[in-house]
Amino acid sequence: MDVASIPRFIRNALDRPGSVGIGAFQRVAAQAGAREDRFRDLAELPRPTLDDLADFCAIAREAARRTIDMRPFDVQLVGALALLSGHVAEMATGEGKTLSGAIAAAGHALRGKRVHVISVNDYLARRDAEWMGPFYEALGVSVGWVGQSSTPEERREAYARDVTYASVSEAGFDVLRDRMATSAADLIVPEPSVAVIDEADSVLVDEARVPLVLAGAADPGADAPEAAELVRRLSKGYHYELDEQGRNVFLTTKGTDAVEKALGGINLYESPDELTRINLALHAHALLTRDVDYLVRDGRVQLISQSRGRVATLQRWPDGLQAAVEAKEALPASETGEILDSITVQGLIRRYPEICGMTGTAVAVEEQLREFYGLKVAVIPPNRPCVRVDEPDRVYGTVTDKERALVDEIAKVHEAGRPVLVGTLDVSESERLAEGLRAEGLSCVVLNAKNDAEEAAIIAEAGARGAITVSTQMAGRGTDIRLGEGVAELGGLYVIGAGRHPSSRLDDQLRGRAGRQGDPGGSVFLVSLEDDLIAQHAAGEALPPADQDGVVRHKRAGWIVGHAQRVAEGANLEIHRNTWRYTRLLELQRGQVLEQRDKVLHGESAADALARARPERWKELTESAGEKVLGEAARQIVLYHLDRCWTEYLGFMSDVREGIHLRALGHRLRPLDEFHREAVAAYRRLEDEVARRSVETFENAVITEDGLDPLGTGLARPTSTWTYMVQENPFGDAFDRVLRRLGSTGGGRRRSGEEE
Ligand code: ADP
Repeated sequence: MDVASIPRFIRNALDRPGSVGIGAFQRVAAQAGAREDRFRDLAELPRPTLDDLADFCAIAREAARRTIDMRPFDVQLVGALALLSGHVAEMATGEGKTLSGAIAAAGHALRGKRVHVISVNDYLARRDAEWMGPFYEALGVSVGWVGQSSTPEERREAYARDVTYASVSEAGFDVLRDRMATSAADLIVPEPSVAVIDEADSVLVDEARVPLVLAGAADPGADAPEAAELVRRLSKGYHYELDEQGRNVFLTTKGTDAVEKALGGINLYESPDELTRINLALHAHALLTRDVDYLVRDGRVQLISQSRGRVATLQRWPDGLQAAVEAKEALPASETGEILDSITVQGLIRRYPEICGMTGTAVAVEEQLREFYGLKVAVIPPNRPCVRVDEPDRVYGTVTDKERALVDEIAKVHEAGRPVLVGTLDVSESERLAEGLRAEGLSCVVLNAKNDAEEAAIIAEAGARGAITVSTQMAGRGTDIRLGEGVAELGGLYVIGAGRHPSSRLDDQLRGRAGRQGDPGGSVFLVSLEDDLIAQHAAGEALPPADQDGVVRHKRAGWIVGHAQRVAEGANLEIHRNTWRYTRLLELQRGQVLEQRDKVLHGESAADALARARPERWKELTESAGEKVLGEAARQIVLYHLDRCWTEYLGFMSDVREGIHLRALGHRLRPLDEFHREAVAAYRRLEDEVARRSVETFENAVITEDGLDPLGTGLARPTSTWTYMVQENPFGDAFDRVLRRLGSTGGGRRRSGEEE
């Protein structure tokens, strides 16, 4: 039945609550099609307005055809219109989201908005900006990109364009660094306006609670080796235990006794510094595994980013955990730092008044997109129907049986020359598999610890005849896999998942690498009942037995796997909600501090305040140093204390969060309420403290006609700063554990970072 012939009220009822109908967009795309000829023969395309969307689409289509040799399909226009209306467009892999996103970004820009296209990584930011460049130019829209190695000047220039492409981390780091500017001329990022987010679910949901951090240099943690040595002597199950999900580790009473004794009879729970140190060492010892969570190369710890499954170059954990892991590996401690400021990805994105995005897997997170961002999903049909064959999971009793089956299956498929792409869950699995294949005389390419550009080039070849590519989840994301000569006749690309992911979206993203644009293709997942997913999230379930050959044919097998995945998804959502509950207030306060900071930076509010507080001194200094110099000195004094007090506030609140559960338990209070009460009170103190310290400094400051002497006045800022992304937060451990004991789910986490 034709969709248009269904009465509207039934169509509305068929729509999922979080989804938007696309009928109106389809009609505009059809109108644009009818006007195609009108623009085909024009020597010069008019600059479109957004008053007539069909005209805009027709002109954009013609511009893309002329400049980048792609005539946008109707579904791409429909996707772009959904983005222009502020939705998340669900479009499958290979449908051409890059072009849809560019049409939408151009549309937003032509409405007079400044647009940031948030891409998955630096490589794609640059590739997409350069690829789409001529298209933008034809529409009179300027475009730029930012990458990790861009200089401040290049960044400022890129952000001055109508459309700027940047990865979420670069965009966030620029916002954080701006936060430390001591002169308005040093600012880099303009006011946020529109964000067009590529791989929207991964940014908005999976990475939402990840903090982006700006840190400044301080002393290295000298005590870490001692703590590492101490925890190395503790035994699992006796001195410490892991929770059922293996995310948290905690000392037992026996363990606490042993540690207290080793530390000279202290009371651990009355020595917060010692407790933190021991917890960090224990976390590094019991939860972080070499070659899974990090590699040791050239005497340095290199993190493996879990969501990307590759070495995150230049990344580090923040202070404590980094030192703990270095001590565990008996490496010298690298420089550590103090957190000057931080913002979560969710907080970063919510700064944009308008948000939209595209991804292959949005419907599964419709609820979160609505809850956290007020976004709705528009499901865009494929240009050509998908004919990929997705086989049911094959379940094995043990990892050994699964891995053997994996090698056999790859060998069988490869025999005919059909290309195989294997998705593994972590680096060590990739390496084991590559070894297994080699033993069978099969050569493969392994992607996991390479840079994005290299990965992209390799993954692009994964559809060639006879190719075997082994890759962790995100390797080469955003790169097209085209089928080689004669591969379609062999059935197209065959994707094998070496285990189901903690979210069905990740499974779907892996599957989606085959069968793009109506290509033939196939997918299957091999799962073992010993996989982490099952062990952690279906722990209480009775597991069906395997047959002689190691295969589990029992009909419960499939259910268990799906069940474990749903439990994992639920746990992740709970962690997301929980983190947001705790960070929301801090981010509101951060916004207020920044508003104040802006006034100091751009105006005379510092001078006014100090002149009012100490009129005598002000008068005296005006005479000796001059009004202009004095105004600038006042600005520097207040900025310094504002930043300093905020840093201290963040540190204080992180301690509060860590200890809150104990206090809340003692007083039968809800931890969150208690946390909020503390935050509100401490924030009020912060405001008073900034004023008090600023006046105090002003009274003693060395100010001459040459200006303020910052060192003489004791206002030294950190000599070096760096930024990183925290993957997960280990400091919540004790806290989350109690939460879980109280019946809610919390989460343990891990940090990783990026250093400059
Ligand atoms: P996605 O991000 O949706 O997976 P991409 O934007 O990477 O897809 O595009 C996939 C491929 O399809 C690219 O190689 C691109 O050149 C091609 N493509 C996209 N749109 C068109 C079009 N309208 N006509 C021809 N090729 C297109």
